[in-house]
Amino acid sequence: MIEKIVSDIGDTVICDWCDIEYTNSDAKGGILFGEKSICPKCMPKALENIKKFKEEEFIKAVCPDDMTFKDFVMTIRGGDNTIKIITLDKGENISDIFKKQSN
Ligand SMILES: [Zn+2]
Repeated sequence: MIEKIVSDIGDTVICDWCDIEYTNSDAKGGILFGEKSICPKCMPKALENIKKFKEEEFIKAVCPDDMTFKDFVMTIRGGDNTIKIITLDKGENISDIFKKQSN
């Protein structure tokens, strides 16, 4: 397994659905769905899909009404702005690696 830290993206906030940047936006709302931060604009459509596919259990966090999407994402990151990219060797299983990391 090769694990490399790619970059420090600082306080850049981008919706993982529409790729629109929210770094300087005061827009409020949004959800964390699995590992994806979904912006207020995408949220209604996302919730529709989540309901349709019964994936409510993957909603990890919901942005409080009085919080901006940017602050919400920064809170989730907890100050760790580095993105890890994990490359699997042949035969390695991603769920085994997550198991190893959480131990
Ligand atoms: Zn979006």
